[in-house]
Amino acid sequence: MNTETPTSATGTDDRSWPVLKAALTEPCDGCNPITGRPCTLGHHSGYHRDSSGTEWLDE
Ligand SMILES: [Zn+2]
Repeated sequence: MNTETPTSATGTDDRSWPVLKAALTEPCDGCNPITGRPCTLGHHSGYHRDSSGTEWLDE
């Protein structure tokens, strides 16, 4: 049994998303439309999150 790869549990690889790669080169500048707080996740994809822990998704 080999348990030396704990980070591979999900089997996903974010680096395989060429479409999102360009967007990940800059920190997120999203702003929560409900709380008005800026996104604090920096480089990410999917849901945004502000300093209060609230998450949102803009289209
Ligand atoms: Zn964001």
